[in-house]
Amino acid sequence: AAERERYRDRTPNSERLADSLRSFVPAGVCSTYRAYEPYPIHADRAEGATLYDIDGESYLDFALNNGTQLVGHAHPRLSEAAKVQIDQGTLYTRPSELLEFAARPLIDRWEAIERVRFTNSGTESVMHATRLARAYTGREKIVRMEGAYHGAHDPGLVSKMPPVDRAGPADDPRPVKESQGVPDGVPENMLLAQYNDAESVERLLREHGSEIAGILVEPACLNLGLVEPEGDFLFRLRELADEYDVVLIFDEVKTGVKLAPGGGAEYYGVQPDLVALAKAIGGGYPVGAFGGRRELMSLIADDLEDETASGAAHYGTYNGNPLALRAVGVTLGEILTTEAYDHVTTLAERLADGYRDVIDDAGLEGHVVTAGSQGMVYFTDKRIRTFRDWGAIDEEFHEAYWLGMVNRNVLPHPHDASQQWTVSVQHTAADIDTHVTAFADLASDLAA
Ligand code: PLP
Repeated sequence: AAERERYRDRTPNSERLADSLRSFVPAGVCSTYRAYEPYPIHADRAEGATLYDIDGESYLDFALNNGTQLVGHAHPRLSEAAKVQIDQGTLYTRPSELLEFAARPLIDRWEAIERVRFTNSGTESVMHATRLARAYTGREKIVRMEGAYHGAHDPGLVSKMPPVDRAGPADDPRPVKESQGVPDGVPENMLLAQYNDAESVERLLREHGSEIAGILVEPACLNLGLVEPEGDFLFRLRELADEYDVVLIFDEVKTGVKLAPGGGAEYYGVQPDLVALAKAIGGGYPVGAFGGRRELMSLIADDLEDETASGAAHYGTYNGNPLALRAVGVTLGEILTTEAYDHVTTLAERLADGYRDVIDDAGLEGHVVTAGSQGMVYFTDKRIRTFRDWGAIDEEFHEAYWLGMVNRNVLPHPHDASQQWTVSVQHTAADIDTHVTAFADLASDLAA
């Protein structure tokens, strides 16, 4: 409660603007996740590793727009390239050399990506990848992990963090609609397994194999904080997909290019059949992509090589627009170099170590998980392996931590325990130490 009061005292302009916006923009935001209690901080601008609000406060930013900003905010090289493109036109409909500039790095980074198409968001990328899996197999059902988020399209909203009291038992979860307006046929086609439980996937394949088009999974769950695959989980999914002849789809919208240059597929050493991408590949410009094995991608109608194929649609006015393509090419080809990955990984480890020391010194219950540029603190000693484990964490405690950090001018991650921190190429060792010092200052209050 004290941290909430302090938050309010520091951000009166944000509170006023939130009140005003709510009267004509639902919840005052354009993605419902962005609304939280008491009200969001309203941004003025962002540069490098810092976000500035409309009350004159500045924050060391590790939330980084839900991790899109692996390159940091307003990276000078990217801003310069965008300005060049703006002067050369931002929409042509015609393909251009920029398509090659943007597509090559994705094909180079993912062994699984032989062909690629661009979209405008992660939602579109997942939607098209799953449609392609259905078109390829002629089957309709998709196996997905309970509690994962796969975008704002109807199937993405089935059992995205369902209330556990409505979700049935963990070993036989019931699909739950996360939104009114999702037709009944949608949950019927989503089969739920538990992340880190290959047996739960195998069971569904044994029972419904002939109806299943694909397995959709984030290589690491970055919508449950940071839950990594354990043991041979991803390898088993690869084996099961082969055994039952279903398409393995990695949703790498968040993991892609942030765990390793070639995403979760490279980091964990398992290649899917299709990959859905967005967020960090564009360095802060709105763009997505999906790609994969040649025979799957060739099903897209206007790239049809096999006359017996049924064809799968992919259209979009803004798909592959020059501004987005230039942003992808510069981000992946010029900014996210090997040295950049060394930098973010080293700093992410330094941050995780700093948290571990503070937790030990303060006698807090908690543990830290880190992978590539990503990291997460859970205030429990129990390892989080599944959505059901995640559901048992103490949300109030996590909120107190988050508000306490914001009041100390650090945005450790977006506002709740579903999200993690990102270390960007523009963070410095001094920024990491400032973050850890702020946490040390807060930790004694949290421990009290
Ligand atoms: N898939 C995952 C794993 C995501 O985390 C998200 C967004 O957070 C999406 C898909 C949807 O992406 P977008 O918000 O760009 O539509």
